[in-house]
Amino acid sequence: MGAAAGVSLLGAAVLHAGPALSAVGPLRRRLLPALAGLGDAAHVALTFDDGPDPASTPMFLDALADLRWRATFFMLGDMARRCPSLAAEVAAAGHEVALHGDGHRSHLWRTPRSVADDVRRGLDSVAQATGAVPVWWRPPYGVITSSGLRASHQAGLRPVLWTTWGRDWRTEATPDTVMADVETDLVPGATVLLHDSDCTSAPGAWRAGLLALPRLAESFSRLGCEVGPLAEHGLD
Ligand SMILES: [Zn+2]
Repeated sequence: MGAAAGVSLLGAAVLHAGPALSAVGPLRRRLLPALAGLGDAAHVALTFDDGPDPASTPMFLDALADLRWRATFFMLGDMARRCPSLAAEVAAAGHEVALHGDGHRSHLWRTPRSVADDVRRGLDSVAQATGAVPVWWRPPYGVITSSGLRASHQAGLRPVLWTTWGRDWRTEATPDTVMADVETDLVPGATVLLHDSDCTSAPGAWRAGLLALPRLAESFSRLGCEVGPLAEHGLD
């Protein structure tokens, strides 16, 4: 009885450590650099969550082609099932395909079985649509729970969060605010989080991130960093 209570308390502590760690970028970056996505100091990993979305992802593909950048797309299984050809187009354009989940529900307060099912279903859908097998996993809201860690490990996925973000999901986000927010925590070896869909954001919020891309190019080059996907970020 006592041991069982101890185990469940430990589980609760891990459960609560997830959002706490993901909420405090600089702290996470210092304590868990690989989980935060802190990689090669001559490189910035550019990552997009929540797609693929027919309303916005094609514009990101065009902008990335103009910049000659390849990025990592953390896709949702339920989005990939809705537009498998677009998901395949992302992969065919040379971008790295990763897993965000199946649906976009936080893993907090979900059963281990429900979390494992979500990861497995999302992985199958994304792999089937794109023909690529994701290596990286970033849970919805960056909330890493013990159930999520176990499920991702069993699925052969490696968790990675981000070191800086554009806060591009907000109604009030503009290219200026996205630039400023990314630059707040921008360091050599950064992993940058943006979104190529507004499926969990304010309607049309993705436009701010899209329009910020050419200006972010100036920031990244001032930093002396090449831009690319997580696969080339030196996290191994
Ligand atoms: Zn998301």
